[in-house]
Amino acid sequence: MDQSKFENLAKEFMEDLKKVSSLDDLESLRVKYLGKKGILAGLFGEFAQISPEIKKDFGRKLNQLKNNIESKLSELHSEFFAGTEIGVSQFEKTLPGKKPQIGHLHPIITQAIREIVEIFKPLGFTQVRHPEVDWDYFAFESLNMPKTHPARDEWETFFVKAPENKEYGKLVVSPHTSSGQVREMLKNQLPIRMLNISRCGRRQIDVNHIPFFFQFEGLAIDKNLSIANLRGVLDYFAQKFFGPGRKTRLRPFHFRFTEPSFEVDVSCGLCQGAGCRFCKEGWVEIGGAGMVHPNVLKAGKVDPKIYNGFAFGWGVERTYMMKAGLKIDDMRYLGENNLKFLSQF
Ligand SMILES: [Zn+2]
Repeated sequence: MDQSKFENLAKEFMEDLKKVSSLDDLESLRVKYLGKKGILAGLFGEFAQISPEIKKDFGRKLNQLKNNIESKLSELHSEFFAGTEIGVSQFEKTLPGKKPQIGHLHPIITQAIREIVEIFKPLGFTQVRHPEVDWDYFAFESLNMPKTHPARDEWETFFVKAPENKEYGKLVVSPHTSSGQVREMLKNQLPIRMLNISRCGRRQIDVNHIPFFFQFEGLAIDKNLSIANLRGVLDYFAQKFFGPGRKTRLRPFHFRFTEPSFEVDVSCGLCQGAGCRFCKEGWVEIGGAGMVHPNVLKAGKVDPKIYNGFAFGWGVERTYMMKAGLKIDDMRYLGENNLKFLSQF
């Protein structure tokens, strides 16, 4: 093998490089040396067949040459685009620049959650996190839903394949943020103003349900709290989040962990309460709320004779979708990574 072969090739390349005056020239040069059937490809073919004694040296020189050619080509390539001397003819200064795509915060996971947290802050509600995978005890039993209670069916729970805990039972994907209620009480720091925002999971998927969604849960435990306090908080939230003039109303309902329990409606933002196709007579349903059941307080080691409280738990996606002016006809979009859709918000 002729040792000067690489030196000559390097020289030849530098000569060729000097002749380049356009991007097309540059591309032809790249093909000549680095293309599939180019000079270097030929040398790599040779490399496979040469004797072991000189293989090491040959390989080193070949790689050196390749790196050198690559870096020189890329340098020149950048020069073309920087509009320096050689590229002047190709560089059109008057064309508007290409704007880089700038990302933004996710409408649910960041924007809506941050907004909700900020709204509740002045009322003393602090954001906390509780496990997204939790024991049956915290998800159901401590919330006044004993094992085998039919009310559990509504939660369409995902069970996790894991050994059962003697005290707390099976492991589940937390089906609601209410799982954090008793955990918060067990911290033994009264009074409580908790805002638990978390990912939850249920086996449901259609235009109004996604199997993984976010909920936010407000829990207040104190002395002498009443439904009036709950209403005050809900109205305050509705006006801050949906806009001034929005109202809430409570409809009697049944949940195991609150007594009395309510479904909460917000006045419709499209018709301002007059009634339209979107709403039912001027109201749209937003989620559940109620006064914390004494059994739940007991599970949290809070004395129901001294303390009481209220709680509400709503889906972040659903609440966000109801925001005035936002018409999203399929909730599943919010859980997908479709940038075209997400970049609108
Ligand atoms: Zn309406």
